[in-house]
Amino acid sequence: MKLNERGLLVVMSGPSGVGKGTIRKALFRMPDNNFCYSVSMTTRKPREGEKNGVDYFFVSREEFEQRIANDELLEYAEFVGEYYGTPKSFIDKKLAEGNEVIMEIEVQGALQVREKMPEAVFIFIVPPSRQALIDRLQVRGTERTPDIEKRLEKAKREFDLAYKYDYIVVNDEVFNAADRIYAIIRAEHAKTERSIHMYNKLMEER
Ligand code: 5GP
Repeated sequence: MKLNERGLLVVMSGPSGVGKGTIRKALFRMPDNNFCYSVSMTTRKPREGEKNGVDYFFVSREEFEQRIANDELLEYAEFVGEYYGTPKSFIDKKLAEGNEVIMEIEVQGALQVREKMPEAVFIFIVPPSRQALIDRLQVRGTERTPDIEKRLEKAKREFDLAYKYDYIVVNDEVFNAADRIYAIIRAEHAKTERSIHMYNKLMEER
């Protein structure tokens, strides 16, 4: 019997361009992981190379609003004029199966998850410097200049809420950042409050 059978919900946030997507990919390449990515729903248009159902579920505003009305989303928020939200059923199923579910969402949504699932672990990713963030947004080249400005403005407001997270991880180098997150996940599993009830059961086994 494992000490801890239920998976962990890991909520990652950080300013646009900080490298959350790249860190996530590095995390999924770590040995012996059972990570599962929570694919969000959005009304924004796909970027080049993005696939429906893999990067996001791309839907219309009408469809998104219908999902909200049906209470199908764990959380949702508007970010730079577009809706983003997390389908609920997938997360419940994967956690029950023992998978670690990784969510990559902005802060307003993360605060809603904190209310509904306080047992989740909240990690805020920061760039090594402000300039590094600007460089990344420009190099990525997927946003128009006014959108980059909007995203930088938004980043400033997101930083103000970083103190509400359990951990802050610096993305100085992708592998290092992913490694720190993996270490956090392992340590969180070992926390007494998560595993003590399983330990008690284990002691009763004959
Ligand atoms: P992007 O357009 O760059 O893919 O995402 C913009 C922002 O929306 C990012 O900060 C990303 O983490 C966030 N985001 C992505 N999916 C969700 C979601 O399901 N819910 C919320 N609240 N934010 C999300």
